[in-house]
Amino acid sequence: MKTISGKSILKGIAKGILKRYREPERDLPGEEMTDPQAELKKFEAARQRLKTAQRKLYEKTRVEAGEESAEIFLAHMQMLDDEMLKESVTEIIRRQNRSAAYAVQVGLSSIVGRFRAMDDLYVSARSEDIADLANGLLDELTGMAAFGEEEEEPWILMADTLTPTELMKLDRRKLSGLVLSGGSDISHTAILAKGMEMPMLVKCGPLDEGWEGMEAVLDGYEGVLYLEPSKEQLALFEGKQKNAQQDKERLESLKGKESVTKDGKRIRLLANISDPSEVGAVIANDAEGVGLFRSEFLYLNGSNYPKEEELLFVYRQVLKTLFPRPVIIRTCDIGADKASDYMQLKPEENPALGLRAVRFALTHREVFKTQLRALLKASDSGNLSIMIPMISDIREVRETKELLKECEEELKAEGFEIGAYEFGIMVETPAAVLTARELAREVDFFSIGTNDLAQYTLAVDRQDAALASFFHPAHPSVMKEIEMTVEAGHAEGIRVGICGELASNPEYTEAFLGMGVDELSVSPKSVLPLREIILSCCS
Ligand code: PEP
Ligand code: MG
Repeated sequence: MKTISGKSILKGIAKGILKRYREPERDLPGEEMTDPQAELKKFEAARQRLKTAQRKLYEKTRVEAGEESAEIFLAHMQMLDDEMLKESVTEIIRRQNRSAAYAVQVGLSSIVGRFRAMDDLYVSARSEDIADLANGLLDELTGMAAFGEEEEEPWILMADTLTPTELMKLDRRKLSGLVLSGGSDISHTAILAKGMEMPMLVKCGPLDEGWEGMEAVLDGYEGVLYLEPSKEQLALFEGKQKNAQQDKERLESLKGKESVTKDGKRIRLLANISDPSEVGAVIANDAEGVGLFRSEFLYLNGSNYPKEEELLFVYRQVLKTLFPRPVIIRTCDIGADKASDYMQLKPEENPALGLRAVRFALTHREVFKTQLRALLKASDSGNLSIMIPMISDIREVRETKELLKECEEELKAEGFEIGAYEFGIMVETPAAVLTARELAREVDFFSIGTNDLAQYTLAVDRQDAALASFFHPAHPSVMKEIEMTVEAGHAEGIRVGICGELASNPEYTEAFLGMGVDELSVSPKSVLPLREIILSCCS
């Protein structure tokens, strides 16, 4: 049995077969296939997805270039419903026992050829549209296959690094754990994995290709990956899982209790989420609400910026489900390690110091306004707070407030009622700490982001595994900054919380409460362990 050590992001055990991550490959059209029903379903799903994409293009083009230019996309949607088009593909799947991708390529190119040969200018011009749709269908059929889709047994992914977008695009139904040679425990990928309660090891060093296919156990308690564990070792893991079960039962008894220190200070104990599907975990772990909804993940999954209605739907769903609990939705923290191709962001030498978060928002005002409008519309659905990330200058706060006012006026003129909401900022740059008194006069609350605050204070890239030994989120300088922020916030009469990863480290809970921190927001799974600590602490 071989062991590999790494840094664990959460206590948990994952078992499964190791599989090395590869960029999803296109199916090569022409392969024989065995299940025509599955291929017919794939074709139908691709056709529907392409129709949705065409509708989005229609709406976007209508706004940007007018109805006439946009009509071609409506025509494409109709063509996708055309019986001749559908049959030319499904017949090949049924009769020739070929893959959906092959059938699209062959079936549609024969229509294109026939149309091109016609004298009628109108019909021959349509051939270009069909060729375009054939490409779209091929993209849908070959590019959409999620890595891991074919796995039927639990598996553990090995990779050098993994971006948040790559993680979101994996087929995670049977994925039990993640092992990275590089990475960082406070990267956004790690934060996402934590939210999914997925054991993950980072900084494991080189991972051998030859391990692919081996059975492995990832021990998130010890930070070790065991390759081909012995029977004795497997029994040990079962023992660990039993202990974890006992801890779980003890923590269950804390549900419904207030998070109050021994000397009577009530702490708001909230949860961090990155995806609406985590709302269930917020309730199941008895968090008092959401202290940080990292809303950018709604932007990373799609192929274009989400529309106001799409955002509104999600915000309403989260707010309504959690009502009357408070929900702090942080506006988009796009940029740096969080970007999608469609955003077409220019590569930056120092992305952490680049166009991210509020800087991105204020330079892409239409994108920002779409989000602010959706948030304001959702304000009637629950207990909403809006929070702005990465503030380093009071001007950014004021400009955001101006934009909010503009959106409020627009919405009122359109007949919408705006509900009550709080407005706050993340304190995660040294500049915000040093000007916290002035900033506090502009907002209802502060939430300290210790991940970035440590990165910018220590001048250490939080993503860079090679710098891990220099990254100390609880460095005395960061602790001092937390204390200064609480003092400044309280002097101006506002609430101060912590939502960075350090909030869940029990070693520092007593220190934070001693500084007067009012709120802690942690991954849902850390809520009850932290409540247990708070109940044993003095403020
Ligand atoms: C932080 O920086 O501490 C934080 C909570 O924000 P994120 O990790 O999303 O940058
Ligand atoms: Mg941050």
